[in-house]
Amino acid sequence: MQKTEIVIAGDTPGIEWRLPVLRFAGKDPSAPKTYIQAALHAGELPGVAALHFFIPVLEQAEGNGEILGDITIVPKANPIGAAQYLYGALQGRFEQGGRVNFNRDFPLAPLSEREALTSQPHTRLATDQLKRHLLSMAIAADVVLDLHCDDESVIYAYLHQDFWPAATDLAESFGLHSVFLSDGTSSAFEDAVTHAWRNADLGHRKNWYDDRISLTMEFRGQRDVHADMAKTDAEGIMSFLRRRGVVAGAPSRNEPFSGAVAGLDYVQMVNAPVGGTVLFEKDVGEKVKSGERLAVIVNVPGDPSRDVVIASPVDGDIVTRVQHRFVRPTDNLMKIASRELSRTPRKPGGGLED
Ligand SMILES: [Zn+2]
Repeated sequence: MQKTEIVIAGDTPGIEWRLPVLRFAGKDPSAPKTYIQAALHAGELPGVAALHFFIPVLEQAEGNGEILGDITIVPKANPIGAAQYLYGALQGRFEQGGRVNFNRDFPLAPLSEREALTSQPHTRLATDQLKRHLLSMAIAADVVLDLHCDDESVIYAYLHQDFWPAATDLAESFGLHSVFLSDGTSSAFEDAVTHAWRNADLGHRKNWYDDRISLTMEFRGQRDVHADMAKTDAEGIMSFLRRRGVVAGAPSRNEPFSGAVAGLDYVQMVNAPVGGTVLFEKDVGEKVKSGERLAVIVNVPGDPSRDVVIASPVDGDIVTRVQHRFVRPTDNLMKIASRELSRTPRKPGGGLED
């Protein structure tokens, strides 16, 4: 393993950010190259915990001569976000200066412009430099894992619809509960990677997506950071890399997948119609029928006649739930994977939420 640091100049004199990068050299140049990062949203730590256990296992595999394809790992991808505290709380999702989501506004560039992504750093703000470094490492790979988590959530992944069903091996390696298929139109990291690949010479490939994958892994919820879970997830990463021929050997995890597979337009965003205190009646991982009660919002405490019952708009699987218990009108309460087109239009830019 080789460890280096990318140094990113801050926006004001005297500030710089350091981004540790780990590299494992593969012995087979024809094997897929892999890029893995965690905590692009700086407060989402299940992926960091998984990599904490995965990296020593990978070093062991390196010692055994099992690493076939080059592997690059950025265990904590966002030092800028990790330093943003406001009133004692970490603000790791949006950049405070520009209010932009750290996982949006990635440059959409063809693969041939990879070198230019990181040129002229002095002309760019630190967050833009960070995004360009991450993207430049990722698009040089064939297998790209961006490790996130949701609020309260089952384990699920976002990936471009063209990767499915070939990516069933991903679901089997991690024991995924659901898969959300995107159309690649957003400026999120995962979509910026596929944008570069979709705008590149095919080379030896018949289709742009052959032998490739770029995905956003949602490693459950914000508080699902535990050693046991992280070790299981580390085993999931290793099993997937073995299946893809990046590391030699047989995968240790193989969990048949029978979960929901929903295009983003089939994910129901259940939003709060009024503000108040949420009393959930259903949990993530449960199946619901249309009209079934999901939650009650207490709008006027002490006056049950003002309670607002939230019913499921569809038959489906509850994938996520908001972690806060006080909500404003329009706040998202749940994401439900269904077989019906969503009644809530997607946000401009192609994603489900800001
Ligand atoms: Zn995230």
